[in-house]
Amino acid sequence: MKVYLIKASAGSEYSKYKAETGGPPQNIFSAAAATPSYIDVEMTDETIGMDTNFNSDADLVAIFMSTPDAYRAYEIAEEFHKKGKNIVLGGLHTRFVQKEAEEYADTLLIGEVEEIWEELLEDWQNNTLKPRYQRTTPFDLAGLNPYPTDIIDPAVYNYTWSVVVSRGCPFKCEFCLVHKFFKKYQTRPIENIVEELKHLKSIGVDWVELHSDNLTYDRAYALELFKAIAPLKMNFYGETTILVAKDTELLEAAQNAGVKALLFGIETPSEKALKDQGKAFVKPDQIKEYVKIIKRYGIDVVGDFLFGFDAHDEHIFQETLDFVKKIKVDQVYPHLVIPFPGSGTFEKLDKEGRILTKDWSKYEGGYVVFQPKLMEPKDLEEGLWWFWEKNASFWEKIKYMIS
Ligand code: SF4
Repeated sequence: MKVYLIKASAGSEYSKYKAETGGPPQNIFSAAAATPSYIDVEMTDETIGMDTNFNSDADLVAIFMSTPDAYRAYEIAEEFHKKGKNIVLGGLHTRFVQKEAEEYADTLLIGEVEEIWEELLEDWQNNTLKPRYQRTTPFDLAGLNPYPTDIIDPAVYNYTWSVVVSRGCPFKCEFCLVHKFFKKYQTRPIENIVEELKHLKSIGVDWVELHSDNLTYDRAYALELFKAIAPLKMNFYGETTILVAKDTELLEAAQNAGVKALLFGIETPSEKALKDQGKAFVKPDQIKEYVKIIKRYGIDVVGDFLFGFDAHDEHIFQETLDFVKKIKVDQVYPHLVIPFPGSGTFEKLDKEGRILTKDWSKYEGGYVVFQPKLMEPKDLEEGLWWFWEKNASFWEKIKYMIS
Protein backbone atom coordinates (compact mmCIF):
# COMPACT_ATOMS: atom_id res chain seq x y z
CA MET A 1 0.00 0.00 0.00
CA LYS A 2 1.45 3.33 -1.05
CA VAL A 3 0.56 7.02 -1.02
CA TYR A 4 2.09 9.75 -3.11
CA LEU A 5 2.40 13.23 -1.55
CA ILE A 6 2.93 16.12 -3.93
CA LYS A 7 3.48 19.80 -3.26
CA ALA A 8 2.28 21.37 -6.50
CA SER A 9 4.06 24.39 -7.93
CA ALA A 10 3.39 26.41 -11.04
CA GLY A 11 6.87 27.89 -10.66
CA SER A 12 5.36 31.23 -9.63
CA GLU A 13 7.27 34.06 -7.98
CA TYR A 14 5.33 33.26 -4.82
CA SER A 15 6.51 29.63 -4.84
CA LYS A 16 10.07 30.80 -5.37
CA TYR A 17 9.71 33.25 -2.50
CA LYS A 18 8.33 30.54 -0.22
CA ALA A 19 11.11 28.15 -1.24
CA GLU A 20 13.73 30.85 -0.62
CA THR A 21 12.42 32.01 2.73
CA GLY A 22 11.52 28.65 4.21
CA GLY A 23 12.71 25.04 4.32
CA PRO A 24 10.80 21.99 3.06
CA PRO A 25 7.06 22.70 2.69
CA GLN A 26 5.06 22.02 5.82
CA ASN A 27 2.02 20.24 4.42
CA ILE A 28 3.58 17.31 2.54
CA PHE A 29 6.05 16.75 5.35
CA SER A 30 3.32 16.92 8.01
CA ALA A 31 1.31 14.34 6.07
CA ALA A 32 4.38 12.13 5.61
CA ALA A 33 5.16 12.37 9.34
CA ALA A 34 1.60 11.39 10.22
CA THR A 35 1.42 8.41 7.82
CA PRO A 36 1.42 5.04 9.63
CA SER A 37 4.65 3.13 9.06
CA TYR A 38 2.95 0.20 7.26
CA ILE A 39 2.08 2.52 4.36
CA ASP A 40 4.81 3.39 1.84
CA VAL A 41 5.26 7.05 1.01
CA GLU A 42 6.54 8.69 -2.17
CA MET A 43 7.01 12.48 -2.18
CA THR A 44 7.62 15.23 -4.70
CA ASP A 45 8.21 18.88 -3.92
CA GLU A 46 7.70 20.79 -7.16
CA THR A 47 8.64 24.07 -5.47
CA ILE A 48 12.30 23.08 -5.69
CA GLY A 49 12.04 21.79 -9.25
CA MET A 50 11.39 18.08 -8.57
CA ASP A 51 9.36 16.41 -11.32
CA THR A 52 6.09 14.72 -10.49
CA ASN A 53 6.27 11.02 -11.27
CA PHE A 54 3.14 10.31 -13.32
CA ASN A 55 4.17 6.64 -13.46
CA SER A 56 4.01 6.28 -9.70
CA ASP A 57 2.57 2.97 -8.50
CA ALA A 58 0.95 4.69 -5.49
CA ASP A 59 -2.72 3.92 -4.99
CA LEU A 60 -3.65 7.26 -3.46
CA VAL A 61 -2.31 10.66 -4.53
CA ALA A 62 -2.52 13.66 -2.17
CA ILE A 63 -1.74 17.04 -3.70
CA PHE A 64 -1.19 20.18 -1.62
CA MET A 65 -1.57 23.63 -3.10
CA SER A 66 -1.33 27.33 -2.40
CA THR A 67 -3.50 29.66 -4.46
CA PRO A 68 -1.07 30.47 -7.33
CA ASP A 69 -0.39 26.75 -7.75
CA ALA A 70 -4.04 25.67 -7.83
CA TYR A 71 -4.26 25.11 -11.61
CA ARG A 72 -1.05 23.10 -11.57
CA ALA A 73 -2.50 20.98 -8.76
CA TYR A 74 -5.71 20.41 -10.77
CA GLU A 75 -3.64 19.45 -13.81
CA ILE A 76 -1.77 16.85 -11.76
CA ALA A 77 -5.07 15.63 -10.26
CA GLU A 78 -6.63 15.13 -13.71
CA GLU A 79 -3.61 13.28 -14.99
CA PHE A 80 -3.70 10.86 -12.07
CA HIS A 81 -7.49 10.52 -12.28
CA LYS A 82 -7.05 9.24 -15.84
CA LYS A 83 -4.81 6.54 -14.38
CA GLY A 84 -7.55 5.54 -11.94
CA LYS A 85 -5.95 6.88 -8.76
CA ASN A 86 -7.87 8.31 -5.82
CA ILE A 87 -7.11 12.02 -5.41
CA VAL A 88 -6.89 14.01 -2.20
CA LEU A 89 -6.49 17.80 -2.30
CA GLY A 90 -5.16 19.74 0.67
CA GLY A 91 -3.27 22.91 1.51
CA LEU A 92 -4.26 26.54 1.95
CA HIS A 93 -6.21 26.95 -1.29
CA THR A 94 -8.25 23.82 -0.63
CA ARG A 95 -9.09 25.11 2.84
CA PHE A 96 -10.52 28.37 1.53
CA VAL A 97 -11.87 27.45 -1.93
CA GLN A 98 -13.46 24.11 -1.21
CA LYS A 99 -16.22 24.19 -3.82
CA GLU A 100 -13.73 24.59 -6.62
CA ALA A 101 -11.25 22.04 -5.23
CA GLU A 102 -13.88 19.32 -4.83
CA GLU A 103 -14.39 19.26 -8.61
CA TYR A 104 -10.90 17.82 -8.99
CA ALA A 105 -10.69 15.51 -5.99
CA ASP A 106 -12.26 12.41 -4.52
CA THR A 107 -11.81 13.90 -1.10
CA LEU A 108 -10.60 17.11 0.54
CA LEU A 109 -8.28 17.45 3.50
CA ILE A 110 -9.19 20.67 5.26
CA GLY A 111 -6.96 22.35 7.82
CA GLU A 112 -4.06 20.83 9.77
CA VAL A 113 -3.50 17.34 8.39
CA GLU A 114 -2.68 15.42 11.56
CA GLU A 115 -5.26 12.88 12.75
CA ILE A 116 -7.65 13.58 9.84
CA TRP A 117 -5.01 12.24 7.43
CA GLU A 118 -4.76 9.01 9.41
CA GLU A 119 -8.58 8.79 9.50
CA LEU A 120 -8.69 9.34 5.74
CA LEU A 121 -6.11 6.61 5.15
CA GLU A 122 -8.06 4.15 7.25
CA ASP A 123 -11.31 4.90 5.42
CA TRP A 124 -9.56 4.62 2.08
CA GLN A 125 -8.29 1.15 2.97
CA ASN A 126 -11.82 0.19 4.01
CA ASN A 127 -13.32 1.66 0.83
CA THR A 128 -15.32 4.16 2.84
CA LEU A 129 -13.63 7.39 1.73
CA LYS A 130 -15.71 10.46 2.65
CA PRO A 131 -15.87 13.61 0.47
CA ARG A 132 -14.00 15.66 3.07
CA TYR A 133 -11.97 15.42 6.25
CA GLN A 134 -11.85 18.55 8.34
CA ARG A 135 -10.30 19.36 11.70
CA THR A 136 -12.52 21.28 14.07
CA THR A 137 -9.97 21.66 16.88
CA PRO A 138 -6.28 22.66 16.73
CA PHE A 139 -3.85 19.74 16.71
CA ASP A 140 -1.80 19.50 19.91
CA LEU A 141 1.81 19.96 18.77
CA ALA A 142 3.04 17.65 21.54
CA GLY A 143 1.84 14.84 19.27
CA LEU A 144 3.71 16.01 16.18
CA ASN A 145 6.10 13.46 14.67
CA PRO A 146 9.45 14.70 13.33
CA TYR A 147 9.49 15.27 9.59
CA PRO A 148 10.96 12.25 7.82
CA THR A 149 14.42 12.72 6.31
CA ASP A 150 14.54 9.42 4.44
CA ILE A 151 12.02 10.14 1.68
CA ILE A 152 13.36 13.33 0.12
CA ASP A 153 17.09 13.51 0.77
CA PRO A 154 18.05 16.67 2.74
CA ALA A 155 20.78 17.14 0.13
CA VAL A 156 17.98 18.18 -2.25
CA TYR A 157 17.38 21.14 0.08
CA ASN A 158 21.13 21.84 0.39
CA TYR A 159 21.01 20.44 3.91
CA THR A 160 18.65 23.22 4.96
CA TRP A 161 15.70 21.84 6.87
CA SER A 162 12.64 23.02 8.73
CA VAL A 163 11.56 22.10 12.24
CA VAL A 164 8.14 23.05 13.57
CA VAL A 165 8.33 25.35 16.59
CA SER A 166 4.84 26.82 16.63
CA ARG A 167 1.69 27.17 14.59
CA GLY A 168 -0.63 30.15 14.31
CA CYS A 169 -0.15 33.78 15.24
CA PRO A 170 -1.84 35.85 17.94
CA PHE A 171 -2.01 38.88 15.63
CA LYS A 172 -4.73 39.25 13.02
CA CYS A 173 -3.31 41.25 10.12
CA GLU A 174 -6.00 41.64 7.48
CA PHE A 175 -4.01 40.38 4.47
CA CYS A 176 -2.68 37.31 6.28
CA LEU A 177 -4.03 33.75 6.28
CA VAL A 178 -2.03 32.38 9.19
CA HIS A 179 -4.59 33.29 11.86
CA LYS A 180 -7.42 32.07 9.61
CA PHE A 181 -5.86 28.67 8.95
CA PHE A 182 -4.56 28.01 12.47
CA LYS A 183 -7.23 29.03 14.94
CA LYS A 184 -4.90 29.02 17.92
CA TYR A 185 -1.30 30.06 18.53
CA GLN A 186 0.53 27.17 20.12
CA THR A 187 4.11 26.10 20.67
CA ARG A 188 5.69 22.68 20.46
CA PRO A 189 7.41 21.05 23.45
CA ILE A 190 11.05 22.10 23.43
CA GLU A 191 12.41 18.61 24.18
CA ASN A 192 10.77 17.31 20.98
CA ILE A 193 12.41 20.09 18.96
CA VAL A 194 15.83 19.33 20.47
CA GLU A 195 15.47 15.62 19.70
CA GLU A 196 14.59 16.36 16.09
CA LEU A 197 17.51 18.78 15.76
CA LYS A 198 19.97 16.22 17.16
CA HIS A 199 18.89 13.78 14.48
CA LEU A 200 19.22 16.44 11.78
CA LYS A 201 22.70 17.31 12.95
CA SER A 202 23.71 13.64 12.86
CA ILE A 203 22.79 13.43 9.16
CA GLY A 204 24.63 16.60 8.15
CA VAL A 205 21.90 19.25 8.20
CA ASP A 206 23.51 22.50 9.30
CA TRP A 207 20.89 25.19 8.55
CA VAL A 208 17.48 24.88 10.10
CA GLU A 209 14.42 27.07 9.81
CA LEU A 210 12.82 27.28 13.25
CA HIS A 211 9.42 27.18 11.65
CA SER A 212 7.06 29.65 13.24
CA ASP A 213 5.14 32.65 12.02
CA ASN A 214 6.00 34.47 15.22
CA LEU A 215 9.07 32.86 16.76
CA THR A 216 9.50 35.14 19.77
CA TYR A 217 5.90 36.02 20.63
CA ASP A 218 6.00 33.85 23.76
CA ARG A 219 9.09 35.39 25.35
CA ALA A 220 9.61 32.82 28.12
CA TYR A 221 9.23 29.95 25.65
CA ALA A 222 11.62 31.55 23.15
CA LEU A 223 14.27 32.13 25.83
CA GLU A 224 14.00 28.52 26.94
CA LEU A 225 14.11 27.27 23.36
CA PHE A 226 17.21 29.32 22.50
CA LYS A 227 18.94 28.08 25.66
CA ALA A 228 18.09 24.46 24.82
CA ILE A 229 19.33 24.55 21.23
CA ALA A 230 22.52 26.58 21.84
CA PRO A 231 24.66 23.51 22.75
CA LEU A 232 23.84 21.94 19.37
CA LYS A 233 26.00 24.54 17.59
CA MET A 234 23.83 24.69 14.48
CA ASN A 235 22.74 27.61 12.29
CA PHE A 236 19.18 28.80 12.52
CA TYR A 237 16.86 31.26 10.89
CA GLY A 238 13.23 32.12 11.45
CA GLU A 239 10.45 34.63 11.25
CA THR A 240 9.15 36.96 13.90
CA THR A 241 8.01 40.54 14.43
CA ILE A 242 10.40 43.47 14.50
CA LEU A 243 9.35 44.07 18.13
CA VAL A 244 12.01 41.55 19.13
CA ALA A 245 14.47 44.46 18.87
CA LYS A 246 13.07 45.86 22.10
CA ASP A 247 14.32 42.83 24.00
CA THR A 248 18.11 42.60 24.10
CA GLU A 249 18.09 39.60 26.46
CA LEU A 250 16.09 37.69 23.85
CA LEU A 251 18.40 38.84 21.05
CA GLU A 252 21.44 37.75 23.01
CA ALA A 253 19.87 34.36 23.63
CA ALA A 254 19.05 34.06 19.91
CA GLN A 255 22.63 34.95 18.99
CA ASN A 256 24.02 32.37 21.44
CA ALA A 257 21.64 29.78 20.02
CA GLY A 258 23.04 30.27 16.51
CA VAL A 259 20.25 32.35 14.99
CA LYS A 260 21.83 33.98 11.95
CA ALA A 261 18.89 35.60 10.18
CA LEU A 262 15.34 36.67 10.89
CA LEU A 263 12.58 37.51 8.43
CA PHE A 264 10.32 40.40 9.38
CA GLY A 265 7.11 41.58 7.78
CA ILE A 266 8.06 45.26 7.78
CA GLU A 267 5.59 45.70 4.88
CA THR A 268 5.60 49.44 4.23
CA PRO A 269 6.72 52.85 5.49
CA SER A 270 3.05 53.96 5.43
CA GLU A 271 1.72 54.16 8.99
CA LYS A 272 -1.81 54.51 7.64
CA ALA A 273 -1.50 51.28 5.63
CA LEU A 274 -0.15 49.39 8.64
CA LYS A 275 -2.96 50.70 10.83
CA ASP A 276 -5.60 49.72 8.24
CA GLN A 277 -4.17 46.20 8.17
CA GLY A 278 -4.23 45.79 11.95
CA LYS A 279 -0.43 45.90 11.99
CA ALA A 280 0.06 49.23 13.78
CA PHE A 281 2.52 47.55 16.14
CA VAL A 282 5.10 47.99 13.33
CA LYS A 283 6.22 51.62 13.73
CA PRO A 284 8.08 52.81 10.61
CA ASP A 285 9.90 55.63 12.44
CA GLN A 286 11.47 53.12 14.83
CA ILE A 287 12.56 50.51 12.29
CA LYS A 288 15.97 52.03 11.56
CA GLU A 289 16.92 51.81 15.22
CA TYR A 290 15.42 48.32 15.54
CA VAL A 291 17.39 47.01 12.55
CA LYS A 292 20.60 48.46 13.99
CA ILE A 293 20.01 46.75 17.32
CA ILE A 294 19.19 43.36 15.76
CA LYS A 295 22.27 43.45 13.55
CA ARG A 296 24.43 44.20 16.57
CA TYR A 297 23.65 40.63 17.63
CA GLY A 298 25.00 39.19 14.40
CA ILE A 299 21.52 38.54 13.03
CA ASP A 300 20.78 39.46 9.41
CA VAL A 301 17.56 41.35 8.89
CA VAL A 302 15.43 40.19 5.98
CA GLY A 303 12.45 42.43 5.26
CA ASP A 304 9.20 41.66 3.50
CA PHE A 305 7.65 44.67 1.73
CA LEU A 306 4.22 44.96 0.15
CA PHE A 307 2.76 47.37 -2.39
CA GLY A 308 -0.91 47.97 -3.14
CA PHE A 309 -2.49 48.84 0.19
CA ASP A 310 -5.41 51.26 0.01
CA ALA A 311 -3.29 54.00 1.59
CA HIS A 312 -0.67 53.67 -1.19
CA ASP A 313 -0.56 56.15 -4.06
CA GLU A 314 2.03 56.50 -6.83
CA HIS A 315 4.57 58.03 -4.40
CA ILE A 316 4.85 54.85 -2.35
CA PHE A 317 7.57 53.32 -4.54
CA GLN A 318 10.06 56.15 -4.08
CA GLU A 319 9.08 56.43 -0.39
CA THR A 320 9.73 52.73 0.14
CA LEU A 321 13.04 52.87 -1.70
CA ASP A 322 14.19 55.78 0.48
CA PHE A 323 12.96 53.92 3.54
CA VAL A 324 14.74 50.70 2.66
CA LYS A 325 18.01 52.56 2.11
CA LYS A 326 17.57 54.40 5.39
CA ILE A 327 16.82 51.41 7.59
CA LYS A 328 19.64 49.27 6.07
CA VAL A 329 18.08 45.83 6.05
CA ASP A 330 20.26 43.04 4.66
CA GLN A 331 17.75 41.70 2.18
CA VAL A 332 14.48 42.99 0.75
CA TYR A 333 11.57 40.88 -0.54
CA PRO A 334 9.18 43.24 -2.34
CA HIS A 335 5.89 42.06 -3.80
CA LEU A 336 2.31 43.13 -4.34
CA VAL A 337 -0.40 42.56 -1.79
CA ILE A 338 -1.93 39.18 -2.66
CA PRO A 339 -5.61 39.03 -1.68
CA PHE A 340 -5.59 35.30 -0.95
CA PRO A 341 -9.09 33.81 -0.88
CA GLY A 342 -10.02 33.42 2.78
CA SER A 343 -8.19 36.57 3.86
CA GLY A 344 -9.91 39.71 5.15
CA THR A 345 -8.37 41.56 2.21
CA PHE A 346 -10.03 39.27 -0.34
CA GLU A 347 -13.41 39.53 1.39
CA LYS A 348 -13.23 43.33 1.48
CA LEU A 349 -12.09 43.73 -2.14
CA ASP A 350 -14.66 41.23 -3.38
CA LYS A 351 -17.45 43.04 -1.52
CA GLU A 352 -16.34 46.34 -3.02
CA GLY A 353 -16.26 44.80 -6.53
CA ARG A 354 -12.52 45.48 -6.85
CA ILE A 355 -11.30 41.95 -7.61
CA LEU A 356 -10.18 42.17 -11.26
CA THR A 357 -9.56 38.49 -11.84
CA LYS A 358 -10.02 35.15 -10.15
CA ASP A 359 -7.35 33.58 -12.33
CA TRP A 360 -5.46 32.11 -9.37
CA SER A 361 -2.25 31.70 -11.33
CA LYS A 362 -1.92 35.48 -11.14
CA TYR A 363 -2.15 35.54 -7.32
CA GLU A 364 1.59 35.34 -6.94
CA GLY A 365 2.77 38.80 -6.00
CA GLY A 366 3.84 40.13 -9.39
CA TYR A 367 0.44 40.73 -11.05
CA VAL A 368 -2.19 43.24 -10.01
CA VAL A 369 -5.34 41.22 -9.40
CA PHE A 370 -7.45 43.94 -7.80
CA GLN A 371 -8.30 47.57 -8.45
CA PRO A 372 -5.98 49.67 -6.27
CA LYS A 373 -7.67 52.56 -4.49
CA LEU A 374 -5.37 55.47 -5.29
CA MET A 375 -3.70 54.46 -8.53
CA GLU A 376 -4.29 52.50 -11.72
CA PRO A 377 -3.40 48.77 -11.85
CA LYS A 378 -0.72 49.49 -14.45
CA ASP A 379 0.93 52.09 -12.17
CA LEU A 380 1.03 49.58 -9.32
CA GLU A 381 2.56 46.86 -11.47
CA GLU A 382 5.11 49.17 -13.11
CA GLY A 383 5.92 50.68 -9.71
CA LEU A 384 6.80 47.25 -8.33
CA TRP A 385 9.15 46.51 -11.23
CA TRP A 386 10.70 49.97 -10.91
CA PHE A 387 11.31 49.24 -7.22
CA TRP A 388 12.75 45.82 -8.04
CA GLU A 389 15.24 47.34 -10.45
CA LYS A 390 16.23 50.25 -8.24
CA ASN A 391 16.48 48.08 -5.17
CA ALA A 392 18.49 45.37 -6.92
CA SER A 393 20.96 47.88 -8.28
CA PHE A 394 21.24 49.52 -4.87
CA TRP A 395 22.10 46.22 -3.17
CA GLU A 396 24.40 45.15 -5.95
CA LYS A 397 26.32 48.41 -5.47
CA ILE A 398 26.53 47.82 -1.73
CA LYS A 399 27.76 44.27 -2.26
CA TYR A 400 30.34 45.56 -4.75
CA MET A 401 31.55 48.19 -2.26
CA ILE A 402 32.05 45.73 0.55
CA SER A 403 33.48 42.88 -1.54
S1 SF4 B 1 1.31 39.03 9.06
FE1 SF4 B 1 2.67 38.11 10.60
S2 SF4 B 1 2.11 39.15 12.53
FE2 SF4 B 1 0.39 39.48 11.09
S3 SF4 B 1 -1.03 37.79 11.48
FE3 SF4 B 1 0.31 37.15 9.81
S4 SF4 B 1 1.94 36.00 10.80
FE4 SF4 B 1 0.92 37.21 12.39
